[in-house]
Amino acid sequence: MDIDALREDTPGTADRVHLNNAGAGLLSRRTLKAMTTHLELEAAIGGYEAADRERERIDATYANIARLVGGRPDEIALFDNSTHAWNAAFYSIAFAPGDRILTGRAEYGSNVLAYFQVAQRTGAEVVVVPDDASGQLDTAALADLIDERTKLVGVSHVPTSGGLVNPAVEIGRITRAAGVPFLLDATQSVGQFPVDVTEIGCDMLTATGRKFLRGPRGTGFLWVRSEALEHLDPFVTEIGAATWDGERGFTWHDGARRFGTWEMSYSGVLGLDAAVRQALALGLDEIGQRATALGAYLRDRLDALPGVTTHDLGSTRCAIVTAKVAAVPTSEVAAALARQGVNVTTTFPEQTQFDTEHRGVHPLVRLSPHYYNTEAELDRAVEVIGAVARAAR
Ligand SMILES: *Cc1c(COP(=O)(O)O)cnc(C)c1O
Repeated sequence: MDIDALREDTPGTADRVHLNNAGAGLLSRRTLKAMTTHLELEAAIGGYEAADRERERIDATYANIARLVGGRPDEIALFDNSTHAWNAAFYSIAFAPGDRILTGRAEYGSNVLAYFQVAQRTGAEVVVVPDDASGQLDTAALADLIDERTKLVGVSHVPTSGGLVNPAVEIGRITRAAGVPFLLDATQSVGQFPVDVTEIGCDMLTATGRKFLRGPRGTGFLWVRSEALEHLDPFVTEIGAATWDGERGFTWHDGARRFGTWEMSYSGVLGLDAAVRQALALGLDEIGQRATALGAYLRDRLDALPGVTTHDLGSTRCAIVTAKVAAVPTSEVAAALARQGVNVTTTFPEQTQFDTEHRGVHPLVRLSPHYYNTEAELDRAVEVIGAVARAAR
């Protein structure tokens, strides 16, 4: 990877140390250009006319996303974020009293709320699979818990709250053997390292455009295995999802398009497409190796600082690094970094309710480098945190 060239192609790297790729990755010039060009075309000739002219590239977006995750173009639906993509899959499952939803402690906040809403509505039950000693989802416990009552296994691949990578392939092996649908929230993992639906064996996968994929805000997608469609009854319909058959009713569109909406932001779609193509061109293996190595570099240096602890769980960890400075509120650490031009966020207790209740460590400072960051930038962040820690001792 030519890091200098990649940074040159990323305007946001000029004046800031951007360590918030788990929040929103920086757009490349190419992606920005794809979006502004389309907006200008819409302004010049009309929105519908611009979409008609760019139809081939818009259609190609589905194929490029399919390549990214190892699925088929007709298994992709586009959304305005990951949550709506996830809702489209989850709320399309028919739950009955006594059905069980198995999930993990790292599950994303909105998913947890949805599980409980559906449990209250239908009499289904939410069961949280415990972690193993390393802090990842305990696959032996999952294998024990999975039974004929299990209607869904829903897992966050990488949580919003730390560097854990849940053992998705092993989870997929168990769900397949049991014949239970597996919904993988891959919002933090797609674009960060290779995620392949065939290797994992999940049935539904959701992701967002703006995080490690470096696409625009307000984009996301759902992948649904074709064979899973027959078990899903889309929870809403509209003219973008189905064809009117007269008095007889309607027929769902083929494949995953039945989950989509007619209207969408085409500048967003084309920006997402540009970001996906860029990730494919760079190679997810290479992206993953570098992002993970930068995460490990940062974690090691923070752990070496007196008064600083990192809190990333699991035996496989990624580019997301979470840390705490003894006796200093997390918001103050984040503010000190912001004053030095270092973009980070803090974890929010309500975004990972089970993890928050179990560990009691949130909020933490969350630093999330990506392949275009440099070791020198990480050193700068470590220096700022080191100074905060020294001042508090
Ligand atoms: C950010 C995040 C989401 C939500 O994605 P949106 O695009 O904001 O809807 C879901 N799951 C995880 C694990 C996340 O980190």
